[in-house]
Amino acid sequence: MRLARPLMFTALAACCASAFAAGADSVPHGRLPGWAMPQSYQLAFKVDPRQADFSGHTVITVKLSQASDHVWLHGADLKVSKVAVTDAAGKTAAGKYVAVAPKEGVARIDFGRTLKPQTITLAIDYSAPLNQQLQGLYKVSHEGQPYAMTQMEPISARYAFPGFDEPGIKTPFDITLTVPKDENAVANTAQVKEVDDGNGWKTLTFSQTKPLPTYLVAFGVGPWDIVNGPDIKPDDYRTTVLPLRGVAAKGEGHRMQHVLSETPSIIHALEDYYGFGYPWDKLDLLAAPDFSAGAMENPGLVTFRDWLLLLDPDSPAQYVRGSFNVTAHELAHQWTGDTVTTAWWNDIWLNEAFATWMQQKVTMKVHPEYRADLDRIRGAQGAMNNDSLVSARKIRQEITGNGDIMTAFDGITYQKGAAVLGMFENYVTPAVFQQGMRAYIQAHKFGNATADDLVDSIAQAADKGADFKNAFKSFLNQSGVPYVQTKLEQKDGQTILHLSQSRYLPVGSTGDSARVWGVPVCVRYGTADGSKVSCEMLDKAQGSMVLAGASNPTWVMPNAGAQGYYRFGMTKADLASLGKQIGSLADTEQLAYADAVSASFRHGDIDAGDALAALKPLAASKTDEVATAPLGTFEWIWGQLASTDAQRAKLAAWAKDAYLPRLESLGYRRKAGEADGDSLMRSTLANFLGMDVKLPAVRAELLKQGDAALKPKADGRLDLAAADPDLLGVALGVAAQEHGKPVVDKLIAELPKTSDPALRNAILGGLGSVDDATQVERIRNFALSKDVKVGEMAALFRGGRDTRAERDGMWKWAVAHYDQILARTGSFAGGRLPGLMGGGGCSKAEADRLQAFFKDRVNQAPGAARGLAQTGEATLLCAALKQKQDANAILR
Ligand SMILES: [Zn+2]
Repeated sequence: MRLARPLMFTALAACCASAFAAGADSVPHGRLPGWAMPQSYQLAFKVDPRQADFSGHTVITVKLSQASDHVWLHGADLKVSKVAVTDAAGKTAAGKYVAVAPKEGVARIDFGRTLKPQTITLAIDYSAPLNQQLQGLYKVSHEGQPYAMTQMEPISARYAFPGFDEPGIKTPFDITLTVPKDENAVANTAQVKEVDDGNGWKTLTFSQTKPLPTYLVAFGVGPWDIVNGPDIKPDDYRTTVLPLRGVAAKGEGHRMQHVLSETPSIIHALEDYYGFGYPWDKLDLLAAPDFSAGAMENPGLVTFRDWLLLLDPDSPAQYVRGSFNVTAHELAHQWTGDTVTTAWWNDIWLNEAFATWMQQKVTMKVHPEYRADLDRIRGAQGAMNNDSLVSARKIRQEITGNGDIMTAFDGITYQKGAAVLGMFENYVTPAVFQQGMRAYIQAHKFGNATADDLVDSIAQAADKGADFKNAFKSFLNQSGVPYVQTKLEQKDGQTILHLSQSRYLPVGSTGDSARVWGVPVCVRYGTADGSKVSCEMLDKAQGSMVLAGASNPTWVMPNAGAQGYYRFGMTKADLASLGKQIGSLADTEQLAYADAVSASFRHGDIDAGDALAALKPLAASKTDEVATAPLGTFEWIWGQLASTDAQRAKLAAWAKDAYLPRLESLGYRRKAGEADGDSLMRSTLANFLGMDVKLPAVRAELLKQGDAALKPKADGRLDLAAADPDLLGVALGVAAQEHGKPVVDKLIAELPKTSDPALRNAILGGLGSVDDATQVERIRNFALSKDVKVGEMAALFRGGRDTRAERDGMWKWAVAHYDQILARTGSFAGGRLPGLMGGGGCSKAEADRLQAFFKDRVNQAPGAARGLAQTGEATLLCAALKQKQDANAILR
């Protein structure tokens, strides 16, 4: 999840339960004191999306384990009109709601008397605004019609109802919704009753939920289309049919059939893995007209950005594949996240790393052609770049304020977390790991768990002790990427591989490289008749392994199957021997090799010429993920290092030679019945060669399609279907770069008339590619207007910042409009705000101005401090690498 509205940074007070009288205990800025625990909630809402406000009536039974005249709880922006406190004897008295720390959403209810330990009932009447920043109960519109829906994670339930808004506190919820008679409403569970009041309203009652934390409560109100999907049949782990439905904005419901048809196979794959049936009484997938994150795993009512669910036969391939991956992720959460919930935000990896890891497992089973095995490795390698920063988070980062909660949803939690799980799964074997997972779900179902619970469960299944647990935790409780350096030696007729580990740090880093993990190192090496894999737990700074049966001379791939979350470095001679084996290595290992080349380049061990030569053979791979692995390193060399025409020409020739033949054989139009991978590759290569390297031949083809799409039809609308659906965004981008203002005019006029999310994204992509300074400024101003959804705004800030002059232009504009950006992007400000404004920088001056500007502003949005540290550090590292590398090495 991303950010809620601006909250103040606060230090977390240690949780304590010592004070009894009102005012004697301190305001709980962090976790609530544990002496008042809710047992159940009844939530009643009266919501008309056409209004600005909604009203609510919340009844909470609370168990007091000590005498008190008050309780602490959460509530934000709530106008409370009445509080009734009923004691165990049934005596009711008026209570008082006090918003103690309104910006954080901490409140207190005073009883007006001291109550002994007992179970009491709090009944609270209130009203609140329908949120405008995609948090809590928020308002969106589609084709002019308003809808109200929820996004509670991580700490926005407090905007929708008063409660104990922490992941560790789980209770059953009874939800009723009073809504306009002509509108539809959905919630986590099945509707069990409907009463019409004869006055334009109806009240819907939903079945009681199993125990949930507040952040998983979900509902939506509006003129939704609700369509039935295929029923999900019972299986070994579930005895009843699971009803499946799609929920979308009016007129869009028919576009959900593809996703609904994929869903049963995902549910069955998950049930088979966990040996545990889907635990809720129905499943709805809801396509949200605007949304702050990608999707949200609310039990029984999973919400998604609409483009992930609304698909047509000609939808871009990346949407179809993305849709499956994200659906698998959110449905995996129904077990890890919803059935077993993290006890506190420092362990959010127990939700997110597992859902990411499990999503890949499901995808490998149902759609092996999507190559989720390679996705996991590419995701891990992306996370390693961030994890190489001194300012990187740990998987289990301490929570010192709301900002740490907001920034916990990052690549470290998701992709590094998934890679670490995969590494230890590989180490104990998948079958043993599965046993541990099944035991973990059974032991903590409908409750909470911590990292220790999980690690213990896997260790027990694997019959492993303290060494294993310490190794696992060494990846959870410290940041950084292990850098495993290897050296082959022939001695006494044996082949010995010497290993050493330290923290991987790129050129210019101020970090300390002395760090030790328990790394399950698996290496592949050459034998007389092929290759062999050998594994060893490297838990000291130095180690060695004997490579039994190795050929002499041999070669070694220090990360067999790329199963390990580590980078490797080797002597130049060993790297050259490995390079000769490239074609015989698995795809996974070729990706590990590409990462090793990139890591050596960023470490300052090899220059740009070496890197390009070492990466070139990968471009010929038949596996697209491998063929495109060199692009990241190439793009840095192209964008940051090359400065002369000769250098650019040499690089363009490299790119053309490596990729143009493949793009030309794919052609510029999707062929009937082609593999989705071909459509994706066409889009990747057209973007790379047309937008980044700007090859004239590629641009000419894209311009033809862009011009065709921009030609008005009889009704005056653009003919967007005239371009290939996978290339529409880049084709519009090339047209906008070539023609400037007239194209920008057309795209800005078309966006408000367009509701299809894929077409909107293509228009945004086209506008985001514009490089003319005057037009870029105009587009940024447009991004702040109501015609651009809050969740779409960032797409328009990405373009026009390749050169220093362009970044200066963005910076000047962003500083001048900072308050508007902050006000509008409450939901994704904070951690992303410094990068949104000053990302992509590559000089000390850019890092300095970023620090100077945010110095006094980091407190305005939670997470901004982390975002500032990371963006600033990345900017300085880029500058250091640029200084270290000799651009003329490109010409070699
Ligand atoms: Zn997730």
